[in-house]
Amino acid sequence: MVQNQKYPFKLAPLPYAYEALEPHIDAETMHYHHDKHLQTYIDNLNKTLADHPTYHQMTLAQLLTDLDRLPADIRTAVRNNAGGVYNHELYFDLLCPNCPQPQGKFLEAVNTQFGDVKQMLAQLRAAALGQFGSGFAWLILQPNGKLLIQGLPNQDNPMSCCGYPLLTADVWEHAYYLKYKNLRADYFDNWAQVINWTEVAARFESPQG
Ligand code: MN
Repeated sequence: MVQNQKYPFKLAPLPYAYEALEPHIDAETMHYHHDKHLQTYIDNLNKTLADHPTYHQMTLAQLLTDLDRLPADIRTAVRNNAGGVYNHELYFDLLCPNCPQPQGKFLEAVNTQFGDVKQMLAQLRAAALGQFGSGFAWLILQPNGKLLIQGLPNQDNPMSCCGYPLLTADVWEHAYYLKYKNLRADYFDNWAQVINWTEVAARFESPQG
């Protein structure tokens, strides 16, 4: 699981082929997004922590859960780069071609709180389109057991503020510009076709970190 990784962080291969999500998400975008953008966050996080062995035993989740306990000189770099690693690995892990629809306790929770999956996704879409500039739209499991939809800027992670992340839509332009140009809504609607609901439900049933 992404949240349990520790220094030194390494790029894991995608759990599917680069072209597996076509036509919704194109292979060229996946190559740049995974091999270049995520690799840069990994390299910068390793550089940030290299001279701080105190934090080599901490998991990504631990690094992100309480940013205030980090020394001031690395706090922003950890926030941006540990967030960048966690958020991207989660984003890639939560995609798959031909995935089954939501089921089980997760589906029940969505139906209870939002009415149905379509209405939940409509709220997530609004958060994705309403996120000014770069960021992610999140479905979060709060400590009180309720689901929360929230847009967060840049590489901020829900564990630093709000709860356990269940699902995320990357709305940085690098996630969609090659194929969708400025059309963030079209990208979101295609992204929503390749969500790995099985993994989202597993996170809901066994939150960690
Ligand atoms: Mn990204």
